Amino acid sequence: MKITENFLTPNKYSRLQIPLEKVAKIAVHYVGNPGTSAIANRNYFENQKNGGRYVSSHYIIGLQGEIIQCIPLNEWSYCTNQANGYSVSIECCHPDSTGKFNEATEQSLAELCAYLLEKFGLGVDDIIRHYDVTGKQSPLYWSPTKYQSAEIANARFKAFKDRVAALMKADKPHDAAENADGTFLVRVLDPALNIRAQPSLTAKINGVIRDNGVYTIVAQQHGGGVLWGKLKSGAGWISLGSKYVKKI
Ligand SMILES: [Zn+2]
Repeated sequence: MKITENFLTPNKYSRLQIPLEKVAKIAVHYVGNPGTSAIANRNYFENQKNGGRYVSSHYIIGLQGEIIQCIPLNEWSYCTNQANGYSVSIECCHPDSTGKFNEATEQSLAELCAYLLEKFGLGVDDIIRHYDVTGKQSPLYWSPTKYQSAEIANARFKAFKDRVAALMKADKPHDAAENADGTFLVRVLDPALNIRAQPSLTAKINGVIRDNGVYTIVAQQHGGGVLWGKLKSGAGWISLGSKYVKKI
């Protein structure tokens, strides 16, 4: 999964930079404009800065499965009405007026949802439709309309959530024990593993682990294409790459 950051210019309409204090839901939408690209929708949000509508989303997924991030995760987007203050929003492009996502778009959406749910410690039932918040038929193909019953629409949405659940399960090593509180143990394989102040390859180095010992990880986060684990001691973050550590 590749995410391209193309943040909107801060402005009074589409990027107000209101802090997003908590993320309890991942809200999925459809753009409602058949055949348009992710970048065209991103630029539509950008153009609102000239005095327009309060409209934006954290992510837009295009017809080739490309993912553009428009808003940082610690700021509000303007996508899901009363849920803006506690949700991350994802807009999806679609080829035609049925609103059905193509396979490339849906695969990226599933991967992005799995990534965000893990990042924020949420489960698949925390994926919501715009429809669940306001009754707006978005995503159209997953909402009851005159073309499809509630039963069919809900079954489509559930099938998508099952797909995300399968991805999340596949992500987890089967031989590793994990405690009920989500903490787990790793043995350090690397002879000199850096401890970083933040989950980022450019963050300050707080220390180096040289003992190939066993450490408790209390949180995980992606940063710079690396999955990081937070040490229980509070010393900082280490890479959880399989070259460096092994879950035990
Ligand atoms: Zn929507």
